[in-house]
Amino acid sequence: MFSILKKQRLARITVVYWFLLIYIIAALVWWYIALQHQNTQIARLNQLMLNPDNTLYLKMLDKIKDEQKRKSAQYLGEGATFLLLTFIGAVFVYRATRKQIKLSEQQQNFMMAVTHELKTPITITHLNLETLLKHKLDQAKQQQLISLCLEETNRLSALTNNILTASQLESGMYSINKQEINFSQLVENVSNELSKRFPTRQMKSSIQPEVFIEGEFALLELLLNNLLSNAIKYTPKGKNIYLKLLTKQGHAILEVIDEGEGIPDHEKEKIFDKFYRVGNEETRTAKGTGIGLYLCKKIVADHKGKINVTNNTPQGTIFTTIFNAI
Ligand code: ADP
Repeated sequence: MFSILKKQRLARITVVYWFLLIYIIAALVWWYIALQHQNTQIARLNQLMLNPDNTLYLKMLDKIKDEQKRKSAQYLGEGATFLLLTFIGAVFVYRATRKQIKLSEQQQNFMMAVTHELKTPITITHLNLETLLKHKLDQAKQQQLISLCLEETNRLSALTNNILTASQLESGMYSINKQEINFSQLVENVSNELSKRFPTRQMKSSIQPEVFIEGEFALLELLLNNLLSNAIKYTPKGKNIYLKLLTKQGHAILEVIDEGEGIPDHEKEKIFDKFYRVGNEETRTAKGTGIGLYLCKKIVADHKGKINVTNNTPQGTIFTTIFNAI
């Protein structure tokens, strides 16, 4: 959500930008016309100063005309180059400013989302713990409240983990410690963990055993958690989520397939951008910060792998991640 103050500032900047651009172009055109006019006048004066009786009159006249043409071509060339440079500069400034504004807008959305995402679990956990402390509840009710607390702290932990890892990877402070990893085992563990956390969700998996890759355990775990959590978050209850791991031509291929709403084609590239979320603040219902897939892409790149998203048929998305198998 962009504040009214920011919108006003943006409008002011736009007005100043267009005013300056139009002014520069108008001044350039004016200078060109003035110089050409001056050129014609100088040629005319030089012509008038010539003595028609002079034997070299025609030769000198040609020289004056040549000089006038040369100057005219020079003004045109210089003017056109300046105009072209002005246009290139204007486009560059326009695009850079737009990019900056977009980033600032997304950062603001991110900050609001993070604040919300942090506040909600803390409030819920606090309330539940207070209830447990103040009231003598039966076993079932106690279990329910504790599960809720656990669920919320899990969300909190996932969020802080994402933010921390993203900033550490970006600043180069994260020293990636790669080793041979039983990817099948890791995928199986993360899948089991999430199935336990979301027992009502229908998750099916087909995991080829003994698939090994070289990588950093914690980062790969984060990648799997993000992809699977998204599949759960963006797929309505009752619809299926599939997890596939197989090897093909020396590659370990992981597919997270869901039957959710899917992602429109024009958004498919953008969802991997930092803080990017599909839709707008008013219409969006799912919680999130737009950092998960950005981190996934970064982790995959740091493992020299590839990640892409395609449509599932008849509905949903397929996130495919490819690594070198060993
Ligand atoms: P977050 O989920 O916190 O918004 P992500 O970076 O994980 O951020 O995802 C970016 C956006 O991509 C999401 O806001 C959502 O619109 C879209 N998205 C991600 N995964 C899915 C999915 N499985 N199905 C539909 N949309 C998805």
